[in-house]
Amino acid sequence: MDYQKFISAKSQQRNPSPIRALGKYMFEEGMISLGAGHPNPSTFPYAGMVLKLKNGEEIEVDSALFQRSLSYDLTSGLPQLNSWLRQLQTLEHNPPVDFTLSIGSGSQDILSKALEMFIEPGAALLVEDPTYAGILNFLKSQPCDLVGIATDAHGLIPEALEKILKNWPESNPTGKKDQPRPQVLYTIPCGGNPTGASATFERKQKIYEICRTYDILIVEDDPYYYLQFASPRIASYLSIDVDGRVLRFDSMSKILSSGVRLGWVTGPAALVERIDLHTMSTNLQPAGVSQVMAYELLNKWGHEGFFEHIRQVSNFYREKLEEFRKYLDKRMTGYAEWSIPECGMFVWLKLLGGVTDSFELIMNQALKKKVIAVPGMVFLPAGEKTPYIRLSFSNVSPENMNEALRRLAEVVQEEADRNGVAIQS
Ligand code: PMP
Repeated sequence: MDYQKFISAKSQQRNPSPIRALGKYMFEEGMISLGAGHPNPSTFPYAGMVLKLKNGEEIEVDSALFQRSLSYDLTSGLPQLNSWLRQLQTLEHNPPVDFTLSIGSGSQDILSKALEMFIEPGAALLVEDPTYAGILNFLKSQPCDLVGIATDAHGLIPEALEKILKNWPESNPTGKKDQPRPQVLYTIPCGGNPTGASATFERKQKIYEICRTYDILIVEDDPYYYLQFASPRIASYLSIDVDGRVLRFDSMSKILSSGVRLGWVTGPAALVERIDLHTMSTNLQPAGVSQVMAYELLNKWGHEGFFEHIRQVSNFYREKLEEFRKYLDKRMTGYAEWSIPECGMFVWLKLLGGVTDSFELIMNQALKKKVIAVPGMVFLPAGEKTPYIRLSFSNVSPENMNEALRRLAEVVQEEADRNGVAIQS
């Protein structure tokens, strides 16, 4: 593939940091460095690290590795962790074409860098409607227009994507007739945030083929991938990417810890290395101590141990959802409509009772009753009023599920009364 046309002028101006570019030679056998102005680690007060696991096990972090983690290191991450993750990608996704991997400070870090790389001022970018508010927030600060593609209980609708691309520029929701056809699709294929929706494999295949036809790059943001409740997991876009048009983002946030701030990008070298160029001029690298903390555990577990952990985590959320589902049925029937997700930690509810603006309702009525839900508006590319809200069941006890939904139903009932709408519960 020719990646040149996807890269913005801003990204093309990025060059390797002259000092960081030497970094990869630093750890070569026999190398004596008078180059990098690294602080001397002997002045750092930390002597070692022991990780205590909840099962009572302790892992003493290898002392040389720990010392290394205290210093500056490679932009693409600690090589041991990088290579462990590469093996994971091969085991799990078996990408059909050669790939490069780089670690970031959470997936948000590298995702925003990737999107920036593709945004030429005045460009249009394809996003799901609704989509992740954290990325919308970033994109709204960028010189681009967002083109929302309709979704349903199985995520992005291939026909809706095709219709927009085929009829461009007439289909452009901004009305700009001279705007080039979008070249990049940002999608959350599993347990989407905010809808909880997951694309079926057939849909992914259709969407991939459409992207081939119109030469679109796919930014696959998949932090909930390992929270799929059914087994085997639905295969990723990366796993069917015969062209090298997928840039895939994974995250430790939902499976090991969100505070370690570790995510990784997998895809064509020409794109991944460009993200590294960005990192070289911003946060320099992901945090060494976090990487060592993750690596020591992953290395001890091995990939099989990791998959076993994943089974436990996804079972945890599956059981939580089962509980939540009971209370949704009990409390929200007649007050809202929803689909039950097959992955992740969110349920997307359409409030009934004549609700047209969930933002107003949540901010003014629900908060007064001491219940929080996220108004759907914050996930909409065009930010219009909507009756939808996002609920998360990940961190709520059964008692609080019951009580929160009771309060929410009360809020909807009061709104229905104001609107003169009868609730059919
Ligand atoms: N993408 C999506 C869809 C998310 O929901 C999140 C976290 N809320 C992120 C990316 C960012 O995750 P991380 O913690 O890895 O930066």
